[in-house]
Amino acid sequence: MEKVRRRGGKGGIPTGLIPLGIIPDRLSQGDYRAVGVVLKRKEAPKSRECILFLRGLGAVQVVSPGEKNRFGGGTEPMTWGNFALYQSTHRMYLKGVDIVEDFLPLRRSRRSLSLAVKWCGKLAARLPSGHENDGVLRLLWGSMKNVSLGLSPLLLDVRFAWRWCGVWGVAPSMDFCSGCGASLESSRGVCASQGGFLCEDCSGREGAARRGFAGAEAFAAVKAACVSPRDVFIRESSKLDDMLSGRDDLKSQLEETASLFYSFLVLV
Ligand SMILES: [Zn+2]
Repeated sequence: MEKVRRRGGKGGIPTGLIPLGIIPDRLSQGDYRAVGVVLKRKEAPKSRECILFLRGLGAVQVVSPGEKNRFGGGTEPMTWGNFALYQSTHRMYLKGVDIVEDFLPLRRSRRSLSLAVKWCGKLAARLPSGHENDGVLRLLWGSMKNVSLGLSPLLLDVRFAWRWCGVWGVAPSMDFCSGCGASLESSRGVCASQGGFLCEDCSGREGAARRGFAGAEAFAAVKAACVSPRDVFIRESSKLDDMLSGRDDLKSQLEETASLFYSFLVLV
């Protein structure tokens, strides 16, 4: 995110960067430019409001008075751009946008589109204002690139949820049992109260409420989807997808695991 200082009242040149992670309670009045993505848009009779997710600024609510199609597709949710902004004494205004990536191929597939919409909705609801979240922003960019490759939405969703947990420091370990700390060869489920995966012994104990899955197969699929580096994941995802084909039990276990990961992402 760059503060733009006017020179001679016309145009603007980018000057120094505001240190990342330290966002003042209120940005000083003036022009800014930042790269990011539109998470959400709300139309009002004489304006539109957007929640943008910006590098160096995190989630920011901006308003753009005037004609609705003033920025073309630049305020469509999931559009990435370089946004020109103006901070007044009390709010941020959107002045313009240069589109960087509109993810058109992703929008043509209903399953891919609904996954990206889900991510943007969760981010709009959960990102705290006043904090940069550049690690999550990079994750979203890479994840949307993966979606546009046509990879399995189910695998991509569990991967995104676990990796978002990782950026925020709440990702459950897939190497050690969260109950007893033993090395985790396999797991029968995730325990919300223990904050992670349980080994066979802990999972079998009375009172160990577990969710997610019941067998080694599903744990292996979750682990492969979440921890593999991007190139390995892209290479292996079709094999994983084939394994899930016709296995509604495994699919629902992966879905439930993703929803449990999302439940760890609530700020208190
Ligand atoms: Zn254990």
